[in-house]
Amino acid sequence: MISANNPEHKSWLEVPENSDFPIQNIPFGIISTEGDTKRVATRIGDQVIDLKVLFDLGYLADLHFGLEDFDTDTLNNMMRKGKEGTRNLRNRIAELFEEKNHEIRQNDNHLKQALIPVADVTMEMPIEIGDYTDFYSSKEHATNVGTMFRDPDNALLPNWLWIPVGYHGRSSSVIVSGVPVHRPKGQTKPSEDEDPVFGPCRLLDFELEMAFVTYDGKPMGDSISTREAEDFIFGMVLFNDWSARDIQKWEYVPLGPFLAKNFASSISPWIVTLDALEPYKVESPEQEPKVLPYLEFDGKKSYDINLEVYIKPDNGNENKVCSSNFKYMYWTMAQQLAHHTVNGCNVRRGDLMGSGTISGPTEDSYGSMLELSWKGTKPLKMDDGSERKFIQDNDTVIMRGYSESNGVRIGFGEVSTKVLPAK
Ligand code: CA
Repeated sequence: MISANNPEHKSWLEVPENSDFPIQNIPFGIISTEGDTKRVATRIGDQVIDLKVLFDLGYLADLHFGLEDFDTDTLNNMMRKGKEGTRNLRNRIAELFEEKNHEIRQNDNHLKQALIPVADVTMEMPIEIGDYTDFYSSKEHATNVGTMFRDPDNALLPNWLWIPVGYHGRSSSVIVSGVPVHRPKGQTKPSEDEDPVFGPCRLLDFELEMAFVTYDGKPMGDSISTREAEDFIFGMVLFNDWSARDIQKWEYVPLGPFLAKNFASSISPWIVTLDALEPYKVESPEQEPKVLPYLEFDGKKSYDINLEVYIKPDNGNENKVCSSNFKYMYWTMAQQLAHHTVNGCNVRRGDLMGSGTISGPTEDSYGSMLELSWKGTKPLKMDDGSERKFIQDNDTVIMRGYSESNGVRIGFGEVSTKVLPAK
C-alpha cells in the first residue's frame, strides 16, 4: 500500500467532517497570497501547506527535489521527478502531518510560516498545459447525442466501440476555477433555408468531464501500453469543457470541433494524484465487441468518483442539475493513453486529457444541458422559478467530485465558473 493512503492515518490538523481534503488526499496546486509570488502547495482540511516553505526549512530533504521545484508558477518542474518522485513527496507530507509525528507540530515559528488558512489563498492555474486532447468516451453520452442528431437506431457511429474517439483541443484557453468566461460569439445557422448569422452563442452548455495530467511520456515513435499507462499519469482534475452548441452544429462538418469548443475549458485547481485515488479503483463497463489487443488491459482501471453539477443563477441558490460518476466511462484512461500513443505520438509533461462528457444511465445523470434538457425540449426548473434549457448570462456553473469508502473521502473541491455576457 502507498503509505500516504493509510485509512488509519489522522492528521493533527483539524479536518472538518465531509472535507474533500483529509490527510489521505495530499493534492498538489499552485497558490499565491497577497504580496508573495506563486509557489507549490498542498492542503489538509482548511489549511494550505506551503511546500516552498517546507522545503526551505529542510522538511523535504533527501527527496531529490530542489527549490526550483516548489518556488515556481506551475507544477511542471516537480512533475519531472515522475511517479516515484511525487509518490515519495506525498508520503513524506502525510508523515509530517500525521498525529504521531512531532517534527513540525511543536515548532510554532515554522508552522506560522508554512500554514495558511484556505480563505487567504488564491488558487492559480496549476500546470502549464502543453497539449490538450479531449476524448468522447461515455457510451451513454455518445448514444444520447447520436439519438438526438442522427438516428436513434444507429446512435453510435461504427468506429465508436473500437476506438477511444478523440480530438486535439486548445490549451491556451484552459482556465482555472474562479476565472469567468464571456459568452462566445460566432456563426450559427438559424434554419435549413436561411443563411448563417453572426452573434452571441444562444445555446451555451457545460460538459461534465474529468481530465488527467501526464508526466513526461516516451520519445516520439514509441507507445505507452495500457499496462504502463498509470505510471505516466500524475493526477486528475474536474473539467468543465464549455461548448457552444449552436456554433458547433454549423461548423463541425467535416473536421469536427473548432470555435464551439476552444473559447474556454475550466479545471479545478488541486491535482488529485492517481496514487490518492488508488483505493477507489473499480471495474469499468464490459466492452463488447472485444477490443483490439493494444487496448486490452488487466485488472481494475476505472475509479468510483461521484460527480455533481450545480447551476447558480445570479444572486440565487445552487441548484443541483446532475449526479453522475466517473465509473460510467466506457473507455478507461489507460486505453485513452495507449490509443493516443499507439501511432508514435509523443505526450509531454503537463499534457491534459479530457475524458469526454460523462453521462450515466439515468436522466438525472446526464453530463450536459443538451442532454438534461433534451435539446431544450425539457427545461430544468430552478428554485427561483426560472427555467434553463442552456446556460444564461451571469449563471455560475459549479462541478464537484469525490470518492468515498472505508470512512475516507478524497475530493477534488470544485470547478466554478461564472458566465458573463458576450463582449
Ligand atoms: Ca468535451
